[in-house]
Amino acid sequence: MLINSQREFELLKKIGFIRTSGSEEELRAANILLEEISLIGCKGDLEDFKVPTSKIIKTSLKVVEPYEKEYEITPYNCSVSTPEGGITTDFVYIEDGLDANLVDLKGKFVLINMGPDPKLYKKLIEAGIAGYITMSGTAMDEEDKTDITVARMREKNTQYGKVPAINMRMKDCFHMVQNKASKVKVELITEDIELTSHNVIVTLEGTKYPNEIISFGAHYDSVPFSTGVYDNGAGSVIIMELLRYFKENPPIRTLKFIWYGSEEVGLLGSKAYLAVHEEELKNHLLMINVDVGGSILGKEMALVTAEQSLVNYIEHMAKIKGFPLKVEQSIYSSDSTAFADSGIPSVTFCRFAPRGGAFIHTRDDVMDFLSADALEKTTIITKEFSESIVNSVVFPIEKKIPDNMKNDLDRYFGKEAKKEDSVENKK
Ligand SMILES: [Zn+2]
Repeated sequence: MLINSQREFELLKKIGFIRTSGSEEELRAANILLEEISLIGCKGDLEDFKVPTSKIIKTSLKVVEPYEKEYEITPYNCSVSTPEGGITTDFVYIEDGLDANLVDLKGKFVLINMGPDPKLYKKLIEAGIAGYITMSGTAMDEEDKTDITVARMREKNTQYGKVPAINMRMKDCFHMVQNKASKVKVELITEDIELTSHNVIVTLEGTKYPNEIISFGAHYDSVPFSTGVYDNGAGSVIIMELLRYFKENPPIRTLKFIWYGSEEVGLLGSKAYLAVHEEELKNHLLMINVDVGGSILGKEMALVTAEQSLVNYIEHMAKIKGFPLKVEQSIYSSDSTAFADSGIPSVTFCRFAPRGGAFIHTRDDVMDFLSADALEKTTIITKEFSESIVNSVVFPIEKKIPDNMKNDLDRYFGKEAKKEDSVENKK
């Protein structure tokens, strides 16, 4: 069987609608994937899991000093409400939140350049801020052409406490700082709710070593406002094509193909899978993830969260086959990272775009910037790599996460701030 990238591209069009975590549309996309799976002659299963989120009741932000102006805001999911009627308090721009930016913040609402990592978040909570604002977009945003990203409070941060958190257009934040906004009135009333999201799972049993498992993963959810075809409808159709390939060419080891829901809100699909399938993890040898692809302007990359020897192997394979592929030992913010954190070596294949060539997490993530030819490149690289590993006579990858990757994972999942915490407590 030959890879048919036109077929991939057609499936990508079919799932190219907004499909956010836990929404009806996400489930609709899951059902389209299930249909395709049965056309291939396999049986797919849906596994559901709960996603805590927020229902917005009321939001507003108004600068009250030294001028009066209301701005559009979007609250973080799983943030907390202000008191009914809102709070009026000082507003401060704290840039990147360096220590000198964090003086005298008690009771103030702060604007920060980026979503705080756990270390900074903890400092903000300790400084006693009333809430914080992050920015999405660019200083050139136009209201009718850009959307305000819906962000979500992550557990790695909220373990230190919760404050109201909101996201705004960078252009509006720029306006506030330029005009020396010093006092704001913020009202944010939300309700905690729970949605249901789904993973789609197919198993191809290995002909020789059925107890040895290698999984393919791709998240199929999108962020709000985005049809998410580059991120990550592309990966979803790539692993579908690989399912078709391995169905026709039975693997000697067991393969799982898993389309994860709710990746965009904190890798919740892969975390749910790992929690439910704990027993299986001892047999799980490798996770092969595909996240972002199909961009006409692009470059192929492999991010390896495993031992250096796997990086070397993929680099050599790429040269032998003539694939222009950059390989790095690294963690990647996707489901592969949840697997690596559970001790399972992982590698993510992706086709990044140069700046301005494709657009993740915005309304501009659309089919116009993608092609079947570009999808094919990532598909073939992923197929060549996985086939050699899946059918290897002796499985060559050690089941071990090296210390440098463990450190990166700890930092990513916010365990580092916690570690420092316990050291401090011991003093
Ligand atoms: Zn993604």
